[in-house]
Amino acid sequence: MLLDRRGRALTTLRLSVTDRCNLRCTYCMPEAHYTWLEKPHLLSFEELARVVRLLRVQGLEKVRITGGEPLLRQELPKLVGMLAQSGVPQLAMTSNGVLLEKHAVALREAGLQRLTVSLDTLRPEVFSRLAQRSELDKVLSSLRLVSGLAFEDFKIDTVVVRGVNEEELLELVRFAGQLGAEIRFIEYMDVGGATRWEPGLVVSQEEILERLRSSYGSAQPLPGRGSAPAERFQLGNGQVVGVVASVTHPFCADCDRLRLTADGQLLLCLYARTGLDLREILRSGAGDEEVSQRIGEFWMGRQDQGAVDRTRVSQRSGYVSLEELRADPRLEMHTRGG
Ligand code: SAM
Ligand code: SF4
Repeated sequence: MLLDRRGRALTTLRLSVTDRCNLRCTYCMPEAHYTWLEKPHLLSFEELARVVRLLRVQGLEKVRITGGEPLLRQELPKLVGMLAQSGVPQLAMTSNGVLLEKHAVALREAGLQRLTVSLDTLRPEVFSRLAQRSELDKVLSSLRLVSGLAFEDFKIDTVVVRGVNEEELLELVRFAGQLGAEIRFIEYMDVGGATRWEPGLVVSQEEILERLRSSYGSAQPLPGRGSAPAERFQLGNGQVVGVVASVTHPFCADCDRLRLTADGQLLLCLYARTGLDLREILRSGAGDEEVSQRIGEFWMGRQDQGAVDRTRVSQRSGYVSLEELRADPRLEMHTRGG
C-alpha cells in the first residue's frame, strides 16, 4: 500500500478518457471555445489498462472512468472489459447520461459495476440553460433504463447552484427514490471552468440539509464514511442521500484519489497546478518496475490538500483565471475528470 506524506493511502484512480463533452454545463464548461487535447496524445486502452494493472499491485481498489463525457470515447465498453480483467474490486463510471441509453447494457456486460449519472434538474428549461444543450429527455430515458440493469451501485450526482436548482432538491430526491438510485448533492466548487464562481452561488451542506429536514422531518448522519467524498444522511422516510461538501467541509484529510488526464498527466489533487507526465514515461519504453516506482514516488511525495487551502483564501473567487485556463487545458475540470 502506498502512503503519502499525510498518511493517505492510494486506493482510488479517477481515469479521464476524454476531455470532449456533448454538454456545456455553466459550472464546468462555460466558454464558447476550448483547446482540446491532441488525439495522438490520448493514452491508448492498452496504456490505460497497464497503468491500472500496475496500480492494482500497489493496492488500488477502485477505478472511476470519467471525462469530459466518457461515452464520447470510441469503444468504451472494450476499455471497461480490459480494466475489469485487472482484478480491481470496484469499477465505476460517471456520465452525463446523454449517450447512456445506447451503451448501458454493453457497459454492464463488459464488467462495469457502479454507475453515477449527473442530473441537476428535472425541468427542461433549466436543463437547457444550465447545460447549454437541450438533452434532458435523453438523460431521463437513460436513467430509466439503467435503473433496471441491476448495477451494484447506482447514483445520481447533482451540483446545487444558487438561483438555478436549489428549489428542486425535494423533487430530485423523490425522482431518485423512484429509480432506486442514491442521490448526492454537490456544493458548487471554484475549480476549472467555474471562473464566474462566487461564494454566494454555493448552496452549503447546512442549507441543503435544512431544506431536506423541513420536508422529511430529519436527516440523520450515517456512520462509516471512510474516504468517500459524500457524507450520507438518512431522511425521515428512510431514503438515504449524500452531500459532497467540498467547499464548506473539505475532506482532504481522507482523500485517497489519484487522477489521470486523458493525455496521461497524473494529478495529486483537483486543485493541482501541475502533475507528472506519465505518458512520457510510458512511451519512453520504461519497464513495469520503473513505471510503478515513478508513480509510487509521486504519490509518496504528496502533501496536497487543495480544498482545505482554498478555505484560507480571504477574498475567494474563481481559482484559475480565464487566461490561465486558455493557456493550459489541463487546468480545466472537464480535463481532470471532476
Ligand atoms: N461528464 C460527466 C458528468 O458530468 O457526469 C463526467 C465528468 S464531470 C467533470 C464529473 C462531475 O464533476 C459531474 O458530476 C459534474 O457535475 C461535476 N462538476 C463539474 N464542475 C463542477 C463544479 N464547478 N463544482 C462541483 N462539481 C462539478
Ligand atoms: Fe460535460 Fe460533465 Fe462538465 Fe457537464 S460536468 S460540461 S457534462 S464534463
